[in-house]
Amino acid sequence: MEQPKWPQRPLEREGILFVISAPSGAGKTTLCKEVVDIFPGLRQSISFTTRPRRAGEQDGIDYHFVSAETFAAMVAQGAFAEWAEVHGNRYGTALATLEDCRRTGTDVLLDIDCQGAAQLKQNWPGGVFIFIVPPSFEELERRLRGRDTDSHEVIARRLLNARQELREMAWYDYLVVNDDLERAREELKAVFVAESCRVTRRLAAAQKRFAEPDPR
Ligand code: ADP
Ligand code: 5GP
Repeated sequence: MEQPKWPQRPLEREGILFVISAPSGAGKTTLCKEVVDIFPGLRQSISFTTRPRRAGEQDGIDYHFVSAETFAAMVAQGAFAEWAEVHGNRYGTALATLEDCRRTGTDVLLDIDCQGAAQLKQNWPGGVFIFIVPPSFEELERRLRGRDTDSHEVIARRLLNARQELREMAWYDYLVVNDDLERAREELKAVFVAESCRVTRRLAAAQKRFAEPDPR
């Protein structure tokens, strides 16, 4: 049987949990999509939400859209690794998704708010926490309005929450400023690559490799 190539031996380490947060409109969705396209081994978790579906969104692809009753039942069953109420709706990450990724060595990317990220920081050792900042508050507002997906009322609420969310950035591991999209993407890529090279993640595979008898 052909030997798997070094260093791509995902089953020799646990999957890495990458958590990305940012105020709404900073560009999380755009950047997450770009990195998932770049790293084939990286899977984006699909959250559950009670938020109404936006035009163009698909159930099971953008989110699992569920009723408030279904969400409450899932909370009661302990089905979420984290969940939070954000901008008046509930959002949560299925525990089964994270456990499955950890077990199978699949890296997973979560686009979640600061409350949910704080829960995982407590409960999920080894997680990597990345905060995306917009270049300015004015630009954030311009992007939210330019996206044209939310009512004036929803945008106003998101802008109000943004001030609160920006106070949370200090406890994250990495800060990426999304002014120029290309540069922000390169910075994010660098974080993903560097994190997968950590000794703690590579040591077992490396030791195993060099413990094998010299083939010469
Ligand atoms: P979030 O998921 O954080 O709410 P989005 O990814 O939906 O944000 O981005 C909000 C809007 O800003 C979208 O219309 C997106 O195309 C735009 N956008 C994202 N990044 C940039 C950037 N670097 N420069 C200009 N516009 C951007
Ligand atoms: P949107 O409604 O714009 O898709 O998302 C609103 C906010 O909810 C964003 O900050 C997004 O990161 C957050 N969010 C999405 N999914 C989850 C989740 O599973 N858990 C938590 N805590 N926040 C989430």
